[in-house]
Amino acid sequence: MSDITPDGGDVRDTQKKPPPQGPPENLPEEFLRRRLGRMDTRRALAELCKSVPGLEEALLPPGIQADALTRRSGSSQMLRSVARRIKQDAAAWSAFRTAVVEQIPPETSEAVGRLSDENLDELREAHTTEGLLLAALVSEEGVEPGLLETLVKRWEEENRQEEKRAHQDAKVKELESRLEELKKDNERLSFASRVANERAESLAEEVRLLTGERESASARVREAEERARAALSVRERLDERISELERRGAQLERALESERQAYARAAERLEELHAEFERVVAERDQIRDALQHARFTDEGFGELLVRAIKNEVEALPDTLEATAHTARLLEFMSRVLQAHADLRGDRGGTSPSAREEEGEESETGSRAGRPEPAAKSEVLRPVRVKSRPTLAFRALGGAGEVGGSSHLLDFGSTRVLVDAGIKPDGRGQLAPDFEGLGRLDGAIITHAHLDHCGALPLLVRNRPDLPIYCTPPSAKLIISALNDHAAMGGGVPGGAPIHEVKRRLVPVPFGKPFEVGGATVTLTESGHILGAASVLLKSNSAMVFHTGDICMEDHFSIPSARLPEVSGIDLLIMEATLADQRPQPFNESIKKMVRVINETTLDRGGTVLIPTYALGQAQEIILGLKYFGREHGLERDVFIYVDGSVVTTSERLYAEQLRYMKPYLQHTDPRELFFGENIRAVANDDRARERILANPCAIIASPVTMQGGASAFYRRRLEGSERNAVILPSNAASSYGTHRAVGEGSSWRVERVSFAAHCTQEELLGITEKLSPRQIILIHGSRRRISDLAFRLAPKHKIHTPEVGETVRTVL
Ligand SMILES: [Zn+2]
Ligand SMILES: [Zn+2]
Repeated sequence: MSDITPDGGDVRDTQKKPPPQGPPENLPEEFLRRRLGRMDTRRALAELCKSVPGLEEALLPPGIQADALTRRSGSSQMLRSVARRIKQDAAAWSAFRTAVVEQIPPETSEAVGRLSDENLDELREAHTTEGLLLAALVSEEGVEPGLLETLVKRWEEENRQEEKRAHQDAKVKELESRLEELKKDNERLSFASRVANERAESLAEEVRLLTGERESASARVREAEERARAALSVRERLDERISELERRGAQLERALESERQAYARAAERLEELHAEFERVVAERDQIRDALQHARFTDEGFGELLVRAIKNEVEALPDTLEATAHTARLLEFMSRVLQAHADLRGDRGGTSPSAREEEGEESETGSRAGRPEPAAKSEVLRPVRVKSRPTLAFRALGGAGEVGGSSHLLDFGSTRVLVDAGIKPDGRGQLAPDFEGLGRLDGAIITHAHLDHCGALPLLVRNRPDLPIYCTPPSAKLIISALNDHAAMGGGVPGGAPIHEVKRRLVPVPFGKPFEVGGATVTLTESGHILGAASVLLKSNSAMVFHTGDICMEDHFSIPSARLPEVSGIDLLIMEATLADQRPQPFNESIKKMVRVINETTLDRGGTVLIPTYALGQAQEIILGLKYFGREHGLERDVFIYVDGSVVTTSERLYAEQLRYMKPYLQHTDPRELFFGENIRAVANDDRARERILANPCAIIASPVTMQGGASAFYRRRLEGSERNAVILPSNAASSYGTHRAVGEGSSWRVERVSFAAHCTQEELLGITEKLSPRQIILIHGSRRRISDLAFRLAPKHKIHTPEVGETVRTVL
């Protein structure tokens, strides 16, 4: 352009002529293409192509329709070839000019008219270089070539700068979008980082927690190890202690064994000593007897005298007093012997004459009435031994146990059986074996409990002619008890019918002596049940007392035992049922019953069952509640029903025996003895039983086992509800076998009271104190209780504790 401008003024003037056929040489194709890129230019070209025939071929590449120009999608490739055509082809150039002319504002066209080198920059400022160039190209008047060239150059320069700027903008845009992406990435990353941080923190927290837990766990482990070590050491110490205790136990066991052996040896020795003592006493008696019959001058008198004195001395206990006595005896003996020698020296060869006498007379204890020895008797006859009475006691049952009581007392000349009981609880043999018992002079039944009289049918079958003694109330009660037992499916197989038994019974009143064989027997009140007796037997010079079942406590129905007013009892046969137990007094039992009855019937609306033995215990309970219940708070509105064989036993038997009962009952109307007011008997009928169960009440019913009869009926109806209660009379149960477990394990309330009609250990010791027998046989109790009692009695008495089947032989 610089080569044009130096002489621009001249050129412009000379070159002012119609525009050339084609575009200026230096017009950049880019300029054309940019103008073509504008839609209105392309539309105008397309219009031209339609109106000017042949233009299409000149303007467009072959195969391209003019319509393609108006489509926005017309490719840049097409636009480039159109631009090339416009540059090369005059027609195309002309069409182009025509197409763009409308786009040039009139002021720009006007400005081109006054374009000069001087105002070029000013006009470019106002109309843009491109606008001026386009207007110059289409100007009719044309523009000076130098100016046109300058405009082209300026446009190219601007275009380059614009491209450069566009390129830079694009670069900037790219950088910005990159930055944007980076920002987004950064955000994502910072979010991820935050999340990661949080996660890291929570992990750290978890780690802290786990560490803490691990620490406490290891602390616990350490503690547990510590404890385990401590436990092990304790255990070791315990093991040591146990083995030490075992060692000591073994030592004690050995010591105990040697004690036992020593005891057995001592017991044997004691037996020997007793035998020895008896022998010495017998010999003494023999010598004393002989002495009484001998005369002082008889040959051998001195020898006899010496033996007599020696025996006396041997029989004496080893005390200081005895020693002084011995010394006096020896002194006396020496004087007598001297006198005897003197006398015999005087008499010379006088032969002694024999002395005749009936020895039998010496058998009785009294020697006072004996005639003086005949003066002529000179020969000392062989000494006749005066034997002490002996007794063999044999337990067929009821020794070392309770149940099946039956004891043979054999005095040699007289043989008596006391009791014939069974074991109703079914433990062991039911009844004693009466076969092979040998001769019997009579039997005595102490009372009507089955463990004392249940085997009577067998005894009667075995000994049809044997008299059987008992008290009058017992005679009634025994038959009733046997009938009830048979009715309940009991009874003994092979026994005689009960009416046969009844015929054999011989009632004897209390305190009236009677003869059995050679013995005199007296029955005394034992206070156990109505009619119960103890037995006092005298045979020759011996006296034996058999307690039977004995009770020193006052009953509601009968008085307590009355011990015989005798002294010198040789042998006491004593029961040991309770021995070491302390039963509740009857009054306390009634008090407890009243409490349970009130709580059950009044507070809870339930019913109380009192199962009981039909004989003895039932009557105690009824009388206790009837006459003493009020003072313990028994409500008048609470009905007490009595059911089972208790009813008949009470009504028929007890009421008939008023004179054997306590004084306060003796003037009662027998019909009201047990029943009346709120105490009623129940008819033997299940419908009647159902009726009484409709309201809360108390029921006294037999049998005590609740395994049959009336009490079983009530048990079935009552045991399922916790509103109801059962009162088990516990201690007395041991006298005929127990079924204590029945009724327990159900829902009802279970209470126990004791109605034990037996002596406590203290009372038994009191009996021995009062009767002070030399020997005692303990029976009717468990082995343990018998041993306990024997231990208490041993210091003062000779004790026998036989087993069933064992025979105790003793000199009385
Ligand atoms: Zn009894
Ligand atoms: Zn008994």
